[in-house]
Amino acid sequence: MEIPYDLLGRIFVAVIVIILIVIVLGLIFAYITYKRKRMIFSGFVLFILDSFYIPAKRIISFFGGNDRMVEIVAVEIRNVLMKDDFDSVKYEDRIVILPQCLRSLECPAKMSSFDGIKCIECNRCKVCEIKKKANELGYGKTFVITGGSFIKRIISKHKPKAVLGVACPYEAYWGMLELEKKGIPSQAVLLLKEGCVETDADLDEVYERMGK
Ligand code: SF4
Repeated sequence: MEIPYDLLGRIFVAVIVIILIVIVLGLIFAYITYKRKRMIFSGFVLFILDSFYIPAKRIISFFGGNDRMVEIVAVEIRNVLMKDDFDSVKYEDRIVILPQCLRSLECPAKMSSFDGIKCIECNRCKVCEIKKKANELGYGKTFVITGGSFIKRIISKHKPKAVLGVACPYEAYWGMLELEKKGIPSQAVLLLKEGCVETDADLDEVYERMGK
């Protein structure tokens, strides 16, 4: 039997076109979420962003947009979808994970290869305030980490049932995804000011997500 290459080629092109249309549709809804802070078809948008992460970023860049929209929108959607599960976990079973860039340049804390930076609450940065608030509420622990690889170590050692994180969009996106795979609900607060040192976070938003 002769292989119908022509037909196969047409089917292949049609499938690619359909996939592209679906991705663009997902990105249009993601853009509405990003710009208007109004979520529509959030499950579908999250599926597109997770499944077509690289192509989605390339398409946005191609049209001159901010490709960080992918992570920002995905984090916003996950925050909404996981809020009830996160809130249902007792404070003592939750942990807080903060980025080391939130520290002051004059931070005197020492580093542990297992638990990250050991904040001594010197009051030079917002880590101190967030840590105090977490202790006040009864959170299991607050960690200050130097990179995403710490998350796996902390999770396997301390076995939290929920995680609140403060991070840049990239770290927050991959961190939440990692936690979701392990069935751990999370909430993320995106940094107000990013960079390698002395970044900033909105304390009101952190406390709000923490549970006040
Ligand atoms: S409050 Fe903690 S993290 Fe911030 S500078 Fe002081 S010791 Fe370092």
